[in-house]
Amino acid sequence: METKEAPVQTKTGRDFSYAVLGSGSKGNATLVKAENTLIMIDCGLPIDLLMERLDAKNIDPKSITAILISHEHGDHVHGLGDFNRIHDCPIYMTKGTYYAQKQVKKNWSKVIYGETVSIGDVEVFPFCVSHDSRMPSHFTFTFDGRKFGHLTDTGTFGQDMINSLTDCDALAIEFNYDDQMLRQGIYPDWLKKRVASDLGHLSNDQAFELVSRINNPKLQWLVMLHISLKNNSVDCIENSLKKFSSLDKIKTYYADQFIPSPWFDI
Ligand SMILES: [Zn+2]
Ligand SMILES: [Zn+2]
Repeated sequence: METKEAPVQTKTGRDFSYAVLGSGSKGNATLVKAENTLIMIDCGLPIDLLMERLDAKNIDPKSITAILISHEHGDHVHGLGDFNRIHDCPIYMTKGTYYAQKQVKKNWSKVIYGETVSIGDVEVFPFCVSHDSRMPSHFTFTFDGRKFGHLTDTGTFGQDMINSLTDCDALAIEFNYDDQMLRQGIYPDWLKKRVASDLGHLSNDQAFELVSRINNPKLQWLVMLHISLKNNSVDCIENSLKKFSSLDKIKTYYADQFIPSPWFDI
């Protein structure tokens, strides 16, 4: 997947930023930093790779305040058990995710859809998504009057999700597949149906539709997550964007499976 170089934003005020360590079916992890608080969303990279990517960002793993787990699929929890043996920080997830995952049985802190939880300096809001797992969730993060929304692994979205993501200054959202590439691609029929179903993943058109429905003039950054290596391409995403003229000024970045992103100021 080709990546675009992100211009560094300079902003005065308190540090609130995010970086994607890796995103896609081979493993997902995103960092959210707010002054003295450092949160990792998902722990889906194999432990050696995760350590390598943290090191590339000059992050000491023991400085991570907490981990949030979105759901129990391997690409979101692969390194969780190993990481937990190195650093036993609190791990936040829904009750359903906790009982469905097999990686950790300690340090669990429960999150409930729609109930804000304070982690260090950050207010985290978990919301329900539509995916073939047990009580999956995604999250918004609020600090110093600014808000960041992170969403992957949902087959559809409704008004509740739009409401959760309203007012975000920055977003990281799944752009999993192009309709035509998925239809004509190498996946078996059952898997094509699963990906395209309401319990699968968002297509490019669905993801841009969601961003346009959020309709936020404050939005600075749109980072595209979980881009399929088999069923999507930068060209397809750019073609899809042409259908959404209200979004043509938005700054975008294609998160990569193999290369960590820069930090994005929120
Ligand atoms: Zn999943
Ligand atoms: Zn996934």
